[in-house]
Amino acid sequence: MKVIGLFRRDPAEVDLARTYDAVIIGSGAAGGMASHVLTSRGMKVLLLEAGKKLNIEEELKSTEWPYDHPRRGAMPPGYHALGYNEYSIRHPPYAQNTNYKHVLSYVQNWGGPDYSKNIVVDEKDHPYTGTDYAWVRARLLGGKTNIWGRLALRLSDLDFKAKSHDGYGEDWPISYKDIAPYYDKVDLYLGISGHKENLPHLPDSIFQRPVKLTAGEIKLRESLTKMDRCLTPYRAGVTTDGLKHNKYRKQCYGRGACDRRVGGCDIHAAFDSPTGLIYPAMDTGNLTLRTNSVVNEVLVDNNTGKARGVSFIDSETGKTYEAKAKVVILAASTLESARLMLLSKSRQHPNGIGNSSGHVGHNFCEHIMGPGVSGIVKDLVGKPRTLDDGRPGSFYVARFRNVKDKHPNFIRGYGFEGGSGTRIYPESTGAPGFGAQYKKAVRDYAGAVIGMGAFGEVLPRYENYMDLDPELKDKWGIPVLRFHYKFGDNEKKMAADMAETAKEMFEQAGIEIVDVDTRILTEGWSIHELGTARMGTDPKTSVLTQFQQSHDVKNLFVVDGSSHVSASCQNPTWTIMALCWRSCDHLADQFKKGNL
Ligand SMILES: Cc1cc2nc3c(=O)[nH]c(=O)nc-3n(C[C@H](O)[C@H](O)[C@H](O)COP(=O)(O)OP(=O)(O)OC[C@H]3O[C@@H](n4cnc5c(N)ncnc54)[C@H](O)[C@@H]3O)c2cc1C
Ligand code: SF4
Repeated sequence: MKVIGLFRRDPAEVDLARTYDAVIIGSGAAGGMASHVLTSRGMKVLLLEAGKKLNIEEELKSTEWPYDHPRRGAMPPGYHALGYNEYSIRHPPYAQNTNYKHVLSYVQNWGGPDYSKNIVVDEKDHPYTGTDYAWVRARLLGGKTNIWGRLALRLSDLDFKAKSHDGYGEDWPISYKDIAPYYDKVDLYLGISGHKENLPHLPDSIFQRPVKLTAGEIKLRESLTKMDRCLTPYRAGVTTDGLKHNKYRKQCYGRGACDRRVGGCDIHAAFDSPTGLIYPAMDTGNLTLRTNSVVNEVLVDNNTGKARGVSFIDSETGKTYEAKAKVVILAASTLESARLMLLSKSRQHPNGIGNSSGHVGHNFCEHIMGPGVSGIVKDLVGKPRTLDDGRPGSFYVARFRNVKDKHPNFIRGYGFEGGSGTRIYPESTGAPGFGAQYKKAVRDYAGAVIGMGAFGEVLPRYENYMDLDPELKDKWGIPVLRFHYKFGDNEKKMAADMAETAKEMFEQAGIEIVDVDTRILTEGWSIHELGTARMGTDPKTSVLTQFQQSHDVKNLFVVDGSSHVSASCQNPTWTIMALCWRSCDHLADQFKKGNL
């Protein structure tokens, strides 16, 4: 197995006769962070990744112009991206009974899908069943971080202590002060761009140079300030000033390519797990990587009930192997880690490993999306073009509901992601006319179009859960997940409010409204799945401790979004990595003391 690319050392050959200090399953944000922290603490680590190692620069080709691509970025015949209606007209498994050779998730309807078609999974190989769910997965070295949207936000005690605030659900077993030093470490090690706002409910990071707001965005920011609401430049998990300690990543030079397509940055200014975490971890000499390794079970010592390693299938040869380790760390992403725990049934753990509480797969939560607004900043129509898409993101409007006040119809809150300005593909929203007149109107309106859409907190509920389908298996013969999950009343009422406040904010700013979207997108659309193995102090109602350690099996850790107690409305990846860093520090301490 060879790692492709400049500078990178070849990974050590895996030695399956050896017992590693730790085996990590999955190489996305969580698995990458666990690799970094544990190897820097001197532990000998094996990283198993189900997907392949792609030559990612070749895939993303971030500087290729649309006219240099044979189909202007479109996928070749035989590929199909699922559309909005298909997620509710058809039902899972979505690729069933289709004639397409490859069926991919909805993100492949965004710009330039040819550049990400090998990054997202083929639904034909990776089916699931149950209720409607738009599940976006990326099986390759680095997981979804290869194409993530980069919005990097912190949570606050309004999230960690949400039950104390409004009485619903459970408080997290940690407070902001416990995780704040680890958010700082993530900021400094990976780089984040943003602007300080001093909002208690959206804590500032240690920011590098912020992205510049466009004229339309400044107008909206000024108007929102008068409403005691905050529009801030996109907090991007991107290094805008460079990182002296990382030779695999370059400073963002604002080509905007990551925003024109599904995502991805081939100079790695935008954080991705391989260049940000895994290659530096390999450089310590303590990390062994094996790709194409689909883990299907956590193996248990019959005498002690502790984890002794994992069983995995080589995705290319179909052969099964075992890897031995003193500590097992699941980082396969929220849903896949829960699947693995449920798959790992043994005499000692008949409901699946770490599942004596019966809570694995339950309390699932995420973000609800759909409602939003688009409009025209009238005084910008016909103004000379500006270079506005040379940015790795545009703007974010922080939560304002149920912060100081109490909304009568719903609890928790939502934020908005938005953008405006002149782009490589001019927005035509609202441009009137036909033929030459229409072309002129598109040019005139291009820099004046502005829009934003909301992401709202979905409440965790025990009844929202995933289990194993008793019949269907994936391409490797592994039982697939079955969803039992629907948005509830609180989410629907919140969504109605999102559309109203979006409209209200544009009206107050004097922005001409073109469209207010009230539609709710299918469950899963946010790609922010969380909470299938929540942390807590009571082993009867939670799966993990505050250090993401199994209550039942002390040498088993689950370091991805599974451990979230509630979803907050802020995007999760920065929190996933800060929590993982904290847990792996604890793990390394305990390992040294011989407690694991
Ligand atoms: C288009 C897009 C936009 C996004 N935008 C944002 C954003 O703006 N902000 C934000 O915070 N988040 C965003 N996200 C979500 C973000 O990518 C995830 O939160 C993050 O990647 C989660 O990290 P993870 O390590 O848990 O999972 P992943 O990154 O999915 O990594 C999991 C890894 O585990 C591997 N794996 C799975 N099962 C097995 C197995 N059985 N054996 C071995 N390996 C296995 C997978 O192949 C994968 O590589 C976005 C995601 C996408 C796709
Ligand atoms: S704008 Fe910056 S982060 Fe985005 S693709 Fe370009 S260099 Fe990378």
